[in-house]
Amino acid sequence: MAEFFRPEDLQQALSLLAEYREKAAVVNGGSDIVEDISKGKVKPDAIVSIGGIRELGGIREDGGMLRIGGTVTYRQMLASDACQRFRGLIRAVSQVGSPAIRIVGTPAGNLGTAAPAADCATMLLALGAQVVLQCGEGQRTVPLTDFYYGRGKTQRRPDELIVSIDVPSLAPGEGTGYYRVARRKAQDIGKILAGCRLTLENGAVREAKISLGALNACIVRARSLEEAVAGKTAAEALGYLKRTFPEEAGLRESYFREYKEQVTSSAVARAFALALEDAAERSGLWQ
Ligand SMILES: Cc1cc2nc3c(=O)[nH]c(=O)nc-3n(C[C@H](O)[C@H](O)[C@H](O)COP(=O)(O)OP(=O)(O)OC[C@H]3O[C@@H](n4cnc5c(N)ncnc54)[C@H](O)[C@@H]3O)c2cc1C
Repeated sequence: MAEFFRPEDLQQALSLLAEYREKAAVVNGGSDIVEDISKGKVKPDAIVSIGGIRELGGIREDGGMLRIGGTVTYRQMLASDACQRFRGLIRAVSQVGSPAIRIVGTPAGNLGTAAPAADCATMLLALGAQVVLQCGEGQRTVPLTDFYYGRGKTQRRPDELIVSIDVPSLAPGEGTGYYRVARRKAQDIGKILAGCRLTLENGAVREAKISLGALNACIVRARSLEEAVAGKTAAEALGYLKRTFPEEAGLRESYFREYKEQVTSSAVARAFALALEDAAERSGLWQ
């Protein structure tokens, strides 16, 4: 039988993780890990429930970063003015699970589970997010591009907590978009996820970050598409994405392959089009 702890501050939580290490299970909103514990897939000696730690709450924008605390929930993000500026992020978060899941679920938990079909994590990857990890000895920051090394595997050490997820603030000309393909609108895991952050300059794409979820063991950046669209006019780039399947999407040979290729290209193009629209509106160019 595991011992249950509900530390009141960050230092207490980190001491528990240092003591129990691999034998500790961090529970945040619990929407992923509680099922794993109850089914016996995870058998901890200590359950460390971090939801009540005040230092890990709060969303703020400072120093050119949007900082989302380690226990911030999806519902809190949806109510945050700072998050509203990131339209792609709001779109991704509003499509997670159902209202009940969004009340408890957190972006930190979405990163911690490291599932491939993770809506918020996929959008955060396109946004160029960084994961701030803390243990008793101090903090380190890992770019989200380096955080995963396999399905369910992350660079987080057992004595560390995700204390914040930092997203570079939007500059003029930037826009964000997200598109998810799923069987149903609510309470369903996405089949193909695409996120985009881009910079529009004089009608051309100066830079784009494009992410894909649910297609590989981990969420990935579609670097081949990013390189191809840089320098193209918005219309050329969109046309290119509609007809190009990203080489980073590791599809297996199957009856559905051709269909999935087409839907993937379409999902990427839609995320890109939403980001274009956002960039144009934010620059006051939209008529
Ligand atoms: C019915 C249902 C529908 C769902 N639909 C979706 C969906 O549409 N899209 C989607 O992406 N996900 C979905 N999920 C999965 C889940 O809700 C999300 O992944 C959510 O973001 C997990 O957050 P949590 O706080 O509940 O994580 P938890 O279950 O508390 O934790 C998940 C993992 O992250 C670790 N962790 C959590 N916080 C921290 C931290 N601060 N520091 C270190 N480690 C931490 C935990 O130890 C655990 O390993 C769904 C789940 C359910 C049950």
